[in-house]
Amino acid sequence: NREIHLASRPSGWPVEENFRLVETDVPTPGPGQIVVRNQYMSVDPYMRGRMDDVKSYVPPYALDAPLDGGAIGEVVASEAPEVAVGDTVLHGLGWREYALLDATGARKVDPALAPASAYLSVLGMPGLTAYAGLLEVAAMKPGETVFVSAAAGSVGSLVGQIAKLKGAGRVIGSAGSAAKVERLRALGFDAAFDYHDGPVRESLRAAAPDGLDVYFDNVGGDHLEAAISALNVHGRVAICGMIAQYNATEPPAAPRNLSLVIGKRLTLRGFLVRDHNNVRETFVRDVAGWLREGRLSYDETVVDGIENAPAAFLGLLRGENLGKMLVRV
Ligand code: NDP
Repeated sequence: NREIHLASRPSGWPVEENFRLVETDVPTPGPGQIVVRNQYMSVDPYMRGRMDDVKSYVPPYALDAPLDGGAIGEVVASEAPEVAVGDTVLHGLGWREYALLDATGARKVDPALAPASAYLSVLGMPGLTAYAGLLEVAAMKPGETVFVSAAAGSVGSLVGQIAKLKGAGRVIGSAGSAAKVERLRALGFDAAFDYHDGPVRESLRAAAPDGLDVYFDNVGGDHLEAAISALNVHGRVAICGMIAQYNATEPPAAPRNLSLVIGKRLTLRGFLVRDHNNVRETFVRDVAGWLREGRLSYDETVVDGIENAPAAFLGLLRGENLGKMLVRV
């Protein structure tokens, strides 16, 4: 069994040396436990925060211990009556080839319904984040104009498509390369721009001449500032993430225009996907239906080998992914 440990805490951008590949024995299950051979593991932006020793909504990773995170795999040993060898389960012990866990920490999924990777992307946590953030938190209504940042990423690409499927009038996305912008147009975004091409405020004004009703924020900083300027009266912002500052060593300078929130009566609302399990059923029904009908696309960028998980994670922070960044273990 090979697993990735946290060797040291980063200051600013993480580097390969913050991680260590460690070999251990394949574990054997105790009563009530299972061993899962991981097939895919997820690397996610929130893991950057967990590398720091700070109090947050998830505890920090411990030094010299394996990292963890979403994973899916096949049960290879079970001492729990409710889980059989051969079952496919979703669980929280990624960053290793073999996971030992209590059966209560695993959720059985049907590998015949969707590819295993989809349970970590479109049908999993990022999908629910997009769905709940757009429809519950921002309460998008048909006809509205929606802007989403990190739009070619896992959450963002689904936000834009779900907005169109739910009747948005105009959907705008920003992303970090010309190829990503092209992909957004192919996915049905009405407008898309590369945020490197000029100030976000100007690109957004050109893309949304009549203003915005909803901004789904994955980035923070100048993106949030530009959106606050572009939002119409009673506009709403779902604050999902602020990836532009996850590796920053100084506090962000933007948004400098927060006082506009008053006159425009804006709502800025942060959220965590874990509070939205109440919409999971409608989410799965809607998304599975759209996938079946060919109306929803999802991209995955797959890196092979547990030894390359740190590189996949660092690549995610640098924007090397189109859609969901995954490691095939
Ligand atoms: P993505 O697949 O979107 O990957 C992250 C992307 O962020 C990169 O591909 C990169 O794309 C972009 N990015 C990196 N740095 C910057 C920057 N300085 N400015 C603009 N874009 C940048 O990741 P996810 O879909 O998993 O997550 C998207 C956001 O949602 C993150 O902020 C994450 O923390 C948040 N999140 C929040 C959840 C919640 O419960 N609140 C749950 C899940 C995710 P590019 O090439 O375009 O720069």
